[in-house]
Amino acid sequence: MTTQTDVVIVGAGPCGLFAIFELGLLGIKATIVDALPKPGGQCTELYPDKPIYDIPAIPMCGAQELVDRLLEQTNPFGATYLLDQQVTEVQKLDDLQFRVATSAGNEMITKAVVIAGGVGSFQPMPLRVPGVDSFENEQLFYRVKNPSQHHGKDLIVLGGGDSAFDWVVELAESAKSLTLIHRSDNFRAAPATVAKMRALEAAGKVRFIIGNVTGIETGDGRIKQAVVTTPDKQTQTMPVDHLLVFFGLSPKLGPIAEWGYDLEKNQIRVDTERFESSVPGIYAIGDIATYPGKKKLILSGFHEGALAAFAIKSRLNPGEKVHLQYTTTSPIMHERLGVKGTPEAAAE
Ligand code: FAD
Repeated sequence: MTTQTDVVIVGAGPCGLFAIFELGLLGIKATIVDALPKPGGQCTELYPDKPIYDIPAIPMCGAQELVDRLLEQTNPFGATYLLDQQVTEVQKLDDLQFRVATSAGNEMITKAVVIAGGVGSFQPMPLRVPGVDSFENEQLFYRVKNPSQHHGKDLIVLGGGDSAFDWVVELAESAKSLTLIHRSDNFRAAPATVAKMRALEAAGKVRFIIGNVTGIETGDGRIKQAVVTTPDKQTQTMPVDHLLVFFGLSPKLGPIAEWGYDLEKNQIRVDTERFESSVPGIYAIGDIATYPGKKKLILSGFHEGALAAFAIKSRLNPGEKVHLQYTTTSPIMHERLGVKGTPEAAAE
């Protein structure tokens, strides 16, 4: 489906989210795309529970809490979120327009693109077992999109973090059998979820093995058995219908590197007035952007998003002067924010 939009933001990390806000203040509605199923970028994916101490005027705030606050702050501006899909193509159509395509088949014609892709799209760390790749999304899964697909099956879940444990707890009652395999009994998952897994193990609903899946046995075009190797190098085979693998995510720059602008060590070179790349109309902010003195900090990305928004406003309205207005006093800002202008009204 092809839609028309003013701005597409590639990446819903903290800087992409704040760009929605800055564009919104200037009356520009954005469409934001992220490869992950949730917004938040590195904050949500890598360190959601860690405290951040260097956000101006917030002495301390959890990383996920920061993302939640940014989402709340962007609420008035009704951005369109396209999640769980990678931007695969950004193609210049003419001096005014780009075509942006996503892995889920969405296509947008837009006047400006803001790349806020951080260190790239987060991709699942693969199970490195010969021959297993060809079974992806049939018997090998790195994400659970439809839990009922796994009901009544012999499941092997691999991993020791929150995702592995959450799905063990969720699927244990409905699976035909469920075996959790991890390289040790030191788990990264939340202690409360580990306790639930242990209770399911005690009730005979979950089997836990220390080891790794090191091979597969196939027949009739399907995986029939998994070969499991334990730390003492013993191997055993076990029947499996679905392998659910949660080894964590690692960022890959991916298609961002291919859209025609100048790159410097995997970052997009931008000017520091407009945060525009060497392709006019494509802007870059946050960790993906580079310029002399660049620091990969969230607060830098917020500033970059604000100036890119002013530059985009000028691009969309050539010849018009873009006035700086204060959110404290400007009636038009209050209208866009949906507040009445007094601190009491803003707090309501
Ligand atoms: P990211 O947060 O990396 O988000 C980019 C998003 O773009 C991702 O969600 C990705 O999936 C998406 N994406 C990429 N390519 C595509 C594509 N082709 N299609 C669709 N989506 C795509 N900074 C601080 O200021 N203070 C701190 O205390 C601090 N602590 C940190 C602690 C740790 C452990 C780490 C790892 C980082 C820390 N940082 C800190 C750095 C901070 O997290 C980053 O600077 C910030 O996340 C950058 O935000 P961003 O929006 O540019 O990119």
